[in-house]
Amino acid sequence: MMEFSDKVLRWFDAHGRKHLPWQAGKDAYRVWLSEIMLQQTQVTTVIPYFLRFIDRFPDVKALAAAPIDQVLQHWAGLGYYARAHRLHACAQQVVNQHAGKFPEDLNGLMALPGVGRSTAGAILALAMEHRGVILDGNVKRVLARYAAIDHPTGSSAFERELWDRAETLTPWVRAGDYAQAMMDLGATLCKRHTPQCLICPVMEACKARAEGAPADYPKAARSKKLPYVERSGLVILDAEGRVLLERRPPLGLWAGLYSFPESEFTQEMDIHNAWQAWLPHNTSMQKMDYFEHTFSHYRLRMNLWKVVVQSLTLIADKDCLWYDFRSQEAPGMPAPISRYLQQGAWPLGKK
Ligand code: SF4
Repeated sequence: MMEFSDKVLRWFDAHGRKHLPWQAGKDAYRVWLSEIMLQQTQVTTVIPYFLRFIDRFPDVKALAAAPIDQVLQHWAGLGYYARAHRLHACAQQVVNQHAGKFPEDLNGLMALPGVGRSTAGAILALAMEHRGVILDGNVKRVLARYAAIDHPTGSSAFERELWDRAETLTPWVRAGDYAQAMMDLGATLCKRHTPQCLICPVMEACKARAEGAPADYPKAARSKKLPYVERSGLVILDAEGRVLLERRPPLGLWAGLYSFPESEFTQEMDIHNAWQAWLPHNTSMQKMDYFEHTFSHYRLRMNLWKVVVQSLTLIADKDCLWYDFRSQEAPGMPAPISRYLQQGAWPLGKK
């Protein structure tokens, strides 16, 4: 009887994706970069970012030598900025500790910042022709359905069983093609809401399909209600219509990116008091708008206050810049802030 991997590989030979930009040359740097970008982000979204990134940072040495600001600038829009920081740290570690070459074993790869078991497996399989085992979101969905794993998504039992299956099913030959095939199968056939079971190469033995409701797998995670956090963002405009941006701390949310100066207070008087060392006396504030953004651990509501100043003495210990979003190249900004500025739907200072 034909093995699972034989069926998957035969399907890959006929239908798999073989011309993605990171597949050229089987290069560890490109594979690693694509794997980090593809975490939580779809292939079609990643491709233009990947091409711009490779154009600016063509190899691991170029990335390691670049200032973090430029890395963040090229990452902006992909979200999850901690990934960009770890990417940069990883490149520096590869250059400083491994003479610019990625290690060729699982433990060596997993010791690098931001490289987990699946990313390490992908680098081994896709770039080095070793037997690397991968388990990204697409592969998890295929295997959870194929084996009808009914542990809740994200539970340790779910992860353990998936890894066991992935290890068992991965072949010893053509592990790179198999890894790509499984990702393609998940992305193009075993889709989240509309699995195309009738043309799937493993449909005969797929337990979720046999049960008649494949889209019920993977089982939903145990629900957790996200806490709600409210903050105030100051949209400080000068007489020329430039907006003041403050660089966020190097760790934590939106680390190192430029954003509106922020306050934990939500009432005008409190915000004013907290900022009195900065804002000129009697500066008026106008509540404008808000945006919401969901992070993995909480929901943020950012209330925006417009403040127009004629002049402002920038506080020395704050890392700020005036940004003219109509004519200047954007610094690295969180996507919600960048989107908000691009909308241009809010009142500007006088030009
Ligand atoms: S048969 Fe359907 S549910 Fe099973 S792996 Fe294929 S596409 Fe997914």
